[in-house]
Amino acid sequence: DLTLTKVAKSFGGNAVLHDLDLHVRDGELFTLLGPSGCGKSTTLWSIAGLHSPDRGTIAFGDRVVFDGGRVDVTPERRNCGVVFQSYAVWPHLSVHDNVAYPLKLRRVKRPARAARVREVLELVELGHLERRYPHELSGGQQQRVALARALAHPPDLLLLDEPFSNLDAKLRERAREWLRALQQRIGVTTVFVTHDQDEALSMSDRVMVMDQGRVRQVGTPEEIYHEPADEFVADFVGSVN
Ligand code: ATP
Ligand code: MG
Repeated sequence: DLTLTKVAKSFGGNAVLHDLDLHVRDGELFTLLGPSGCGKSTTLWSIAGLHSPDRGTIAFGDRVVFDGGRVDVTPERRNCGVVFQSYAVWPHLSVHDNVAYPLKLRRVKRPARAARVREVLELVELGHLERRYPHELSGGQQQRVALARALAHPPDLLLLDEPFSNLDAKLRERAREWLRALQQRIGVTTVFVTHDQDEALSMSDRVMVMDQGRVRQVGTPEEIYHEPADEFVADFVGSVN
């Protein structure tokens, strides 16, 4: 499981996360939902170790990866698979080489590497496009390459920051069903970030609604929708009460 305790972060005197508490259970798909600028990406980056909070603790199971200034495990050693908001696949590398990249970094030997690349590309249904380059793929296919790369070295935690932001409405809907099925099949603990309430409510085990760096509510999609904790949540998820 993943536990954040009183995580605070500001940028240049501007507080972005206010003593944020968060708990994600093993195997669950947990979604951070909130309006633009509420601190979702900042939370995800803190979990991945891409920047350091000012205070608080972050633990993966009983392994503390961040504790104020005392412990700050590097991103490489946190073993998170990350797909960024503006997806980043290397344009000069083929699909195969994009996915092989994290394995190369970890010095996985060539035959094992090729086998694993094939395996994850099958998983995201891109086995047939291994030799292509990103510019020869659709936006959705590129995002699946980014996902395959995040899964290549099996991550302890999968962190997805608006992975469908480049897809049109119809593709997004299909993508979310597809991702949900994949996540359940491989059982990887996942933190998913979105500002889209339909996306959050339709695919998550639990949702955390955030507003200006604070937690408004944590609950199942049903709870969030039918029993919003306050007016902000009710407004944001568009439920009437
Ligand atoms: P969006 O849905 O638009 O992606 P978000 O919820 O992911 O929004 P964050 O990216 O976490 O929001 O940003 C939260 C706040 O922190 C914003 O006001 C943003 O301007 C600010 N911020 C984020 N990163 C930095 C940075 N590196 N330097 C200064 N301010 C930052
Ligand atoms: Mg963001």
